Amino acid sequence: MRILICNDDGVYSPGIVALAKVASRFGEIRIVAPDVEQSSMGHAITSSRPLRYRRTPLPGGFDAYRVNGTPADCVALGAFGWKRVDLVLSGINLGPNLGSACWHSGTLAAAKQATLLGLRGIAFSTAVAEKEPDFNSLEPYVEKVLKLLLEKKNMALLNVNLPRKPKGILWTRQALRQYDGEVVPGQDPLKRPIFWFTVRPLAGEEKGTDRWAFAQNFVSITPLRQDLTDEKSLAQALALEQGKAAAKSATPTPVRQKRIKPKSKRKRGSKHNVPP
Ligand code: MN
Repeated sequence: MRILICNDDGVYSPGIVALAKVASRFGEIRIVAPDVEQSSMGHAITSSRPLRYRRTPLPGGFDAYRVNGTPADCVALGAFGWKRVDLVLSGINLGPNLGSACWHSGTLAAAKQATLLGLRGIAFSTAVAEKEPDFNSLEPYVEKVLKLLLEKKNMALLNVNLPRKPKGILWTRQALRQYDGEVVPGQDPLKRPIFWFTVRPLAGEEKGTDRWAFAQNFVSITPLRQDLTDEKSLAQALALEQGKAAAKSATPTPVRQKRIKPKSKRKRGSKHNVPP
């Protein structure tokens, strides 16, 4: 198996070597990652200047390349250069990617880019405080999760978050109700206003979500999908359109006539309370 590894913290982040170390037990590894940190770049791609990659030595002696681009660029370039890629892994990110953070995450974007190319993508993130994460203690969990997910071949896109000291693994859904983006105003040395778009720690998690599992010190695995379509709204809109088209139709079938006429009459009557 050929495993392409990317991240958004940059090719020299300790998290990428930790992930490569575990992944190398499952197949052949190639690291293609941004040359500088690209955290919170989301799924940006570079379209206004050319991309290039350079081979770079990393601890562990992995086949590694640094790219002057975003995480999504790296996955595209890596898949192009290596031909047959079986799996894309991203991370291990220094910081969790939970709930609404999924929209900004470059770590998750690398996994998303994999699915856009028809490949499987799995993103790994972990907690980070003052000290660097203890990747040695996380290794068994990364291995366990990989073993588990490699068997779930129908799951194309997965978001995995590892707490500092995991006590188990849980399947979760993405937390939606809370958003930890906050604008903090300040001043530059010349007293001009500046702003930081930053993270405010949130309290209270909904059971069954990624944030909840992570707060309870469980490894959270969330299966995600590419399709953002709101099925309910689409169904409503289509039903409305079909209703209008049928009402306008000059030669409706007898069955359709029966269905639509009473409905439109009821609507007019109840809305304006005057006879049409
Ligand atoms: Mn990052």
